[in-house]
Amino acid sequence: MNTDGVYELIIIGGGPAGVTASVYAARKKIDFLLLAGDIGGQAAWSGDIENYTGYQFVTGSDLTLKFEEHLRKYKFPIKESEKVVDISKQSNIITVKTEKDEYRSKALIIASGKRSLELNVPGEKEGKNRGVAYCATCDGPLFAGKDVAVIGGGNSALDAALQLTKIARKIYIINNTPALGGDKIMRDKLIKTANVSIINGAKVEKISGESVVSGIVINEDGASKEIPVQGIFVEIGLIPNSEFANILEKNELQEIIVNNSCETNVPGVFASGDVTDVPEKQIIIAAGDGAKATLSAFKFLMRN
Ligand SMILES: Cc1cc2nc3c(=O)[nH]c(=O)nc-3n(C[C@H](O)[C@H](O)[C@H](O)COP(=O)(O)OP(=O)(O)OC[C@H]3O[C@@H](n4cnc5c(N)ncnc54)[C@H](O)[C@@H]3O)c2cc1C
Repeated sequence: MNTDGVYELIIIGGGPAGVTASVYAARKKIDFLLLAGDIGGQAAWSGDIENYTGYQFVTGSDLTLKFEEHLRKYKFPIKESEKVVDISKQSNIITVKTEKDEYRSKALIIASGKRSLELNVPGEKEGKNRGVAYCATCDGPLFAGKDVAVIGGGNSALDAALQLTKIARKIYIINNTPALGGDKIMRDKLIKTANVSIINGAKVEKISGESVVSGIVINEDGASKEIPVQGIFVEIGLIPNSEFANILEKNELQEIIVNNSCETNVPGVFASGDVTDVPEKQIIIAAGDGAKATLSAFKFLMRN
């Protein structure tokens, strides 16, 4: 930070994109601050990762440990659990407001990724941390030997269900389309698993329970029925963490629009990874994008 309290660069996000952006910034000796809700991001929620080059197989938690080890090798300020709520730019200085403080920089990289969508049905809000969960990797072990429902039919739901097959007694996959989507390899594994029951074409109406979740009410062909479960994993998709970036152009999905150098419509503000409109959302793509964003920010800082 210079004497006016201005960093050269601020990086928002501690997922694969933000961690890689930080490693590149540290190696370029940029004076920067990392603001991250957590370290690992969605990568930490993933069960089995089989597509990150160099690892034929790694769990999300082990890969996150490796990311963290790499990050901590360098000395730079990190503010964890500090949620960014607003960004603005005036006279070439960017201000990043968090729930606790305010920071200033000449350049900014946004790598704030995505978060889970909610079901928005009665009982969901009340059931949070009482049986309703959004991350099988984080909360799956709490449901050992219990009956659970996984809501969704895409890769996130299949990944969650596969993780739960080793923990829970019975897993109901409740999917509102006629057939499961996602990767065939995961679908095939689930179909062959004895403690998995797949219910296609069903809509969730309500989550029931007094102090803890006791069941889920679904509607199949116009008829409502309750399935007794103690855990419900909501895996219906993700939305970008881009609400705080009001000065930036976004697409209809609320993803930040970037060019192939990770530049946004505001000079000096870069974005990378899942929060952007890059077409594919994967760990290796986000990590590569984070590297690209720092190299672009470095060039911007050299020019200005
Ligand atoms: C269940 C699941 C399984 C997956 N499995 C695989 C897989 O096997 N292989 C694969 O390649 N990809 C997989 N993915 C996708 C992959 O995890 C993502 O593409 C990748 O993590 C995106 O990285 P990111 O850094 O862009 O964002 P994220 O990983 O979403 O990280 C975002 C970071 O920003 C922080 N943040 C968010 N908002 C704010 C804020 N307002 N202020 C400060 N910090 C903030 C978060 O705390 C987090 O640190 C999976 C995803 C899920 C959900």
